[in-house]
Amino acid sequence: MDILSQDIMYLPGVGPQRKEILSKELGISTWRDLIENFPYKYVDRSRIYTIRELSADMPFVQIKGKVLSYEEFEMSARKKRVVGHFSDGTGVADLVWFSGAQYIYKNYKVGQEFVVFGRPTVYQGRFQFAHPEMERASDLQLSEMGMQPYYTTTERMKKMGITSRVIEKTVKNMLLKLKDPLPETLPTFITKPLHLVSRDEALRCVHYPKTPQQMKAARDRLKFEELFYVQLNILRYASDHRRKYRGYVFQHVGKLFNDFYSQNLTFSLTGAQKRVMHEIRDDMRSGRQMNRLLQGDVGSGKTLVALMTMLIALDNGFQACIMAPTEILAEQHFTTITEFLRGLGIRVELLTGIVKGKKRREVLEGLISGEVQILVGTHAVLEDPVKFQRLGVAVIDEQHRFGVEQRSRLWAKSENPPHILVMTATPIPRTLAMTIYGDLDVSVIDELPPGRKPIQTIHKYDKQLTSLYNGIRKQINLGRQVYIVFPLISESEKMDLKNLEEGYASLCQIFPEFKISKVHGKMKSAEKDAEMQKFVSGETQILVATTVIEVGVNVPNASVMVILDAQRFGLSQLHQLRGRVGRGAEQSYCILVTGYELSAVTRKRIDIMCDTNDGFRIAEADLKLRGPGDLEGTQQSGIAFDLKIADIARDGQFVALARQEAQKIIDADPTCTSKEYAMLWRRLRELRDTNINWAAIS
Ligand code: ADP
Ligand code: MG
Repeated sequence: MDILSQDIMYLPGVGPQRKEILSKELGISTWRDLIENFPYKYVDRSRIYTIRELSADMPFVQIKGKVLSYEEFEMSARKKRVVGHFSDGTGVADLVWFSGAQYIYKNYKVGQEFVVFGRPTVYQGRFQFAHPEMERASDLQLSEMGMQPYYTTTERMKKMGITSRVIEKTVKNMLLKLKDPLPETLPTFITKPLHLVSRDEALRCVHYPKTPQQMKAARDRLKFEELFYVQLNILRYASDHRRKYRGYVFQHVGKLFNDFYSQNLTFSLTGAQKRVMHEIRDDMRSGRQMNRLLQGDVGSGKTLVALMTMLIALDNGFQACIMAPTEILAEQHFTTITEFLRGLGIRVELLTGIVKGKKRREVLEGLISGEVQILVGTHAVLEDPVKFQRLGVAVIDEQHRFGVEQRSRLWAKSENPPHILVMTATPIPRTLAMTIYGDLDVSVIDELPPGRKPIQTIHKYDKQLTSLYNGIRKQINLGRQVYIVFPLISESEKMDLKNLEEGYASLCQIFPEFKISKVHGKMKSAEKDAEMQKFVSGETQILVATTVIEVGVNVPNASVMVILDAQRFGLSQLHQLRGRVGRGAEQSYCILVTGYELSAVTRKRIDIMCDTNDGFRIAEADLKLRGPGDLEGTQQSGIAFDLKIADIARDGQFVALARQEAQKIIDADPTCTSKEYAMLWRRLRELRDTNINWAAIS
């Protein structure tokens, strides 16, 4: 048995009970699990400061000395503050506790030598450490101290006495028992040029680095390795897929496409749209199945590209479908597409959850017979017993709600998998795209149709609402329409949020002269649609909504987007909402309303929004501010970020590097059979067997 597969139970200080907790809480049951449970942070305990050296801007530091005496201060009837005057001979600092007096007196006795660890602050001219970590100096082997690792713990673990410190000691014990070097998992032709340390060194040092440099070297090696195998897996899969499946060959652009282009299209394509169409045409002619991600900001004209792509399929005797995440959006696509294709004699049908009975049967029959040429639908298209005669192209709008799994379900809908075009309006930073959509080719529409005026984004505090309402009134009197977005509806959160119902009522009083529509997520879709329709037709001037309008509606006459409690929204959500305006020729505005008190992160978000309309910059910023796990969509798409050490948000350069190295390998050995790379393929299989979530990535 390989040594790392041993049970942690027999490590000193573990035993059956602690083992069970560790395994339940963190999934740690073998030595391997323990060694791959990396610290989430370190503090530099490689040196001891003197009190004289301290300054108020220092991070966590440690000092060594003795408590000279204790003092107590009454804070209230039942609360007291305990202050220990602590000296190392160079000065005196105060150790302060607001609870636990008995414990303190008993454990931190006057005159005994302690190492105190904490963040120094200045209070009444003296340095103080509030609730510091204390350790008996004699317990600490100072010669061994370096960067102290911190491990994730849970409440249950703490209750069982499994603190970060305990894990640290357990890992140390285990490492001591690992006398032989841990096996290498990257070939030297990769590690050498990149100056990566050995796996053995990395795994040992990551748990107990002596210096910050050593810590970085260890982590860099492990991060690279992790990302490298993710990329190798993705690329191997993509290359496999390419060899296995043939794609339909759509050789020509025919009558339907040309008629549409010359008769129905009233404007010319943007340069970006043309470029993307070329890329798509090349894919569909290549004999390989297209798997393409189309990124483009809201309003950049993706729907048109989708439509033309579908027309090419039709021209080659195939059917096409387009899927949207919501019914409203599907309906809007249906309307847009029907409108665009007017007079061309193409049968377009809509299939959503609310299409029922006879109509539904007709659509389903039409799909099997091939008479329905374009199907517009929601996810229902995937779930239902929907069969096509010859599905040639499937377009998926708003990828975020579609994972790889769903995409692969589409393949089963015809003999060869249809060409797939995935459209997303949330631009995804390149490094993230490489990981989430690693198997997709990417096209970008980075140009808006001409004549659009950039949306002006303005930050207002909620004390300035009166002037805001006057602005709204002015716009509506100019003939425009206005969205007002509330973050939540009543009773969904206890926070003091203006809720939609109240907000609606008060807006009705503020604007008695206007008609107001109201939509929210709890409404039935028919009801919602009816309200939405009133706004679309111009019957109402204001649409009060929760984020249900986030994906979808196109009302070119709407020129103002007001987002209340804007701090409650994520960056990409704000950007999506803003994209609802600026669709017509008029100057549009987005007003972000917040209270006065803003956290640093919120402040940054608002600033970025006011600063730029560029979705890519926003996405990059979002990733930095939130991290990928939170990034909208990555969770819904079913792609778990099961990375143990790398962080896609912060380690972008490693993602790119890993991709590059993995690509080299795949190019050199596309069938994964060469002896030279045997180590890599073996390791990849091993990882696939143990890391469940990798399957989701590919
Ligand atoms: P997206 O789906 O990317 O958000 P749409 O396809 O809905 O964007 O396009 C937004 C609007 O711009 C639509 O009204 C569409 O008809 C229009 N549009 C698309 N391409 C062009 C173009 N090249 N020139 C002018 N208007 C365009
Ligand atoms: Mg769209």
